[in-house]
Amino acid sequence: RSSLSPLRKINSVINTYALARQKEIDTLQKTAEFRREFIADISHELKTPIFATQGYIHTLLDGAIEDKHVRMRFLKRAAKSLDSLDVLVQDLLTLNQMESGAVRFTYTDFDLKELLQEVIEQLEHKADKREVAIKLDFDPEKSYITHADKPKIYRVCQNLIFNGMNYNHHGGEVKVSLKTHKNTIQVDVKDTGQGIPPEDLKRIFERFYRVEKSRSKEKGGTGLGLAIVKHILEGHKSKIAVSSTVGKGSIFSFSLPLDKEKKVD
Ligand code: ADP
Repeated sequence: RSSLSPLRKINSVINTYALARQKEIDTLQKTAEFRREFIADISHELKTPIFATQGYIHTLLDGAIEDKHVRMRFLKRAAKSLDSLDVLVQDLLTLNQMESGAVRFTYTDFDLKELLQEVIEQLEHKADKREVAIKLDFDPEKSYITHADKPKIYRVCQNLIFNGMNYNHHGGEVKVSLKTHKNTIQVDVKDTGQGIPPEDLKRIFERFYRVEKSRSKEKGGTGLGLAIVKHILEGHKSKIAVSSTVGKGSIFSFSLPLDKEKKVD
């Protein structure tokens, strides 16, 4: 019996080694699969604006250029497609840098209420066009000074408010509320839009995931906005939370530290 013991030991070592190797192989296979999927996704996303631009330019070259009105219309559309291609490539680069940890965060003190006012002002024109009202709710007695990377938090707020407006209906509303807790400021972006089904809620932060592919694309998104939001907040050791009711609307929330030292009484 005792002579079997060393054999068993060797067996167990071999098993452990085989298991570790299998795990390595699984990880490599997953990485390869992930890469393949990513390249397929990107190619697919890039094709849309490239095809559109090609279409307009070839039609112009085939004779449409002779007509002054058609010429202007097609050139404007080609320029718009190239602009969306530019946004897509920029977003991809941002996301890639974030995922590889190459993005630096520069922290400063700033007023979150003022930042939100700026974002809303910048989006107001688009909101008017869609007949969506954007409201900011805060307590004028309170201070909302935080310590964070200002341009990146601007991007987070811009993406969330833009989505609230973009996936809304005419006459709808986006309400942005600021609440302070003991050590944090909570930002809620609540919309009266179409809402997100429960099975999609977890996946909307994945890159290129869209709830209704055709409808979201029609609305001009890159499908990368929420993935960027998630990464930026993770970089701040914060998280994005979402709750939604189909047909009623959604609430996206996150928190940042409240800088009490800078409190204005
Ligand atoms: P996109 O550029 O397509 O808007 P996002 O990453 O910002 O990409 O969002 C991913 C998807 O989540 C969107 O395509 C849309 O289907 C859904 N979504 C995001 N925000 C909202 C919202 N406020 N209301 C309803 N659906 C939303």
